Amino acid sequence: MQELIQQLQELPDNDVLLGDSISEKYHHDWSADAPGIPGAVVRPSSTQALSETLKLCHASDQQVAVQGGLTGLTGGGIPKAGEIAINLERLNGIEELDVDAMTMTVKAGTPLQTIQEAADDAGFIFPLDLGARGTCNIGGNISTNAGGNQVLRFGMTRALVLGLEAVMADGTVITSMNKMLKNNAGYDLKHLFIGTEGTLGIVSRAVLRLFPKSASRCTALLALNNFKDVVTLLHKLTSEFSGMLSAYEVMWESYFHFITDNVDTIDSPYDTRYPIYVLTELEGGDPEKDADLFMNTLSAAMEDGLVADALIANSEKDREGFWKIRDGVGEISEFIRDTANFDISVPISSMQPFLEQVEKEVIAEVPNAKTLIWGHIADSNLHFICYTGSHDDVKAMYDIVYKVVGDFSGSVSAEHGIGVQKTGYLHHSRTSEEIALMQNLKGALDPKGILNSGRVIPKAL
Ligand SMILES: Cc1cc2nc3c(=O)[nH]c(=O)nc-3n(C[C@H](O)[C@H](O)[C@H](O)COP(=O)(O)OP(=O)(O)OC[C@H]3O[C@@H](n4cnc5c(N)ncnc54)[C@H](O)[C@@H]3O)c2cc1C
Repeated sequence: MQELIQQLQELPDNDVLLGDSISEKYHHDWSADAPGIPGAVVRPSSTQALSETLKLCHASDQQVAVQGGLTGLTGGGIPKAGEIAINLERLNGIEELDVDAMTMTVKAGTPLQTIQEAADDAGFIFPLDLGARGTCNIGGNISTNAGGNQVLRFGMTRALVLGLEAVMADGTVITSMNKMLKNNAGYDLKHLFIGTEGTLGIVSRAVLRLFPKSASRCTALLALNNFKDVVTLLHKLTSEFSGMLSAYEVMWESYFHFITDNVDTIDSPYDTRYPIYVLTELEGGDPEKDADLFMNTLSAAMEDGLVADALIANSEKDREGFWKIRDGVGEISEFIRDTANFDISVPISSMQPFLEQVEKEVIAEVPNAKTLIWGHIADSNLHFICYTGSHDDVKAMYDIVYKVVGDFSGSVSAEHGIGVQKTGYLHHSRTSEEIALMQNLKGALDPKGILNSGRVIPKAL
C-alpha cells in the first residue's frame, strides 16, 4: 500500500490523510456499527483527481470505502479492514444555477443544506429535506436515493436528479449531465448510480431539479382514534387538496408519548392521550383560499368523526412545535440503547395486519420487547424501534421483523439503504433472480470488486 499512497499523494488536486491525521470522524457513520480505521483517507477536489485516484487503486487491486457526509444509518461508509477511504468533502460547491431551466449543477460533496439555501436565495426550493441536512452531502443523498419529509409531493432523490457524472471503478468518467426533463436517447445511465450506494461508481457531480416556492403553507396536528381513520383521512386530503398535500406524518401513541414524556424541551400540545396522531401540511399558491380549504376540509373530517381533535398552527412557532415532536426521533438514543431500528415499507393496505403480526411474533420470542412506531405513511414507509434494554435481544428482533416484512411483500429498506447491515436480509425483499442480476451488474462494472465491497448485495458464490 505504501507505493500506492505515495502515488496518490503526488496527484494534483488530491489530499491524503494518514495515521494520526485521520480524525475519528472518518471511522464511522451514524449507524451503531463498529467503527473502522482506513489505511488512508483520500480527498480529491476535482473529478480528474477522483478518476486518477480510482485508476491507481484499480491497478493495485486496492479496495475503497466511499464516504460523503457520513450520516448514513446502515454502515456503508465505514471502512473495512484493508480499505482506504475516498471522502468527497473537498469536491464541493455549486457550479451553476440555471433560472430558466430551473436546475442547479453541483459537486457531489456539497452539503444538502447549502443547496437548499442557494435555491432559496434564487427564489426556488430544492425539495429534498432530512434531519441530517447540515452534514449529509448530495452525493450521499443520490447514492442512497434518500427520501425524507417531502417525498409525498416531490418524490425521492431519484426524481430530483436530471443528470449526473460518476467515476467508475477503473477511473473512467461517465458524464451524463443532462438538464432536460425528457431524454430517451438510449439507457438512462444515471440510474446505475442512484440508490446503488457507491457499489457501481462514485458520483462526482449532478444536475438537480428546482421548483417554485409555495406562496402558502397550512399545518395541523391531528388526533385520531385508529389506523383505519388515518388511511381514510389520507385519501380525503389527497383528493380535496388536489396535489397540494405536502406532509402526512403519522405517529403512534407509543412514539408520540415517549417523546413528549421524556424529552424535556418537547411537550404534548394535547391534554388528552389519543391512539394515533397525524402531522399534515398543505402547500399551495393562494394563502387565503388555501387556508379556507384547509380549515373547511379538517372541520368536515371532525364532523364526520374521522378526526377526534385538531390543532392548527397559527404561527411558525406552532409549526416548529409540531415538527419537533416528529423530529424528536433524534433524541431517542438519549433514553434507550441497544435498539433494533427499522426503516421498512409495506403496502398501506397491509400496514395494520403487518404491525399486529410483528407484535405477535416478536413478543412470542422476546416477551418484554417494546415498540415505538412512526412513519411517512403516504409513502408506505414505517419507521419503528424495538427494544428490551438488552443487547442480546437485538439480533432476534431484526431476524423476526425482516422475515415478517418478507411475508407481507414489503421492503427491508424504504429509504436508508442496505449498506452492510441488511445484506443478509435482502432476500426477504428481492428474488434470487433479482439478486443474481445485481451481482452480474456489479461484476460487469467493477470486476475486481474494489468499490464498497460487501455492501448492498451478498457476494456471488
Ligand atoms: C438525523 C438523521 C436523519 C436522517 N433522516 C433521513 C431521512 O429522512 N431519509 C433518508 O433517506 N435518510 C435519512 N438519514 C440517513 C442519511 O442522512 C442519508 O442516507 C443520506 O443520504 C446519507 O448522505 P451522506 O452524505 O451522509 O452519505 P454517507 O453516510 O457518507 O454514505 C452513505 C452511502 O452512500 C455512499 N456514498 C456517499 N457518497 C457517495 C458518492 N459521492 N458516490 C457514491 N457513493 C457514495 C457511501 O459509500 C455509503 O454507502 C438520516 C440520518 C440522520 C443522522
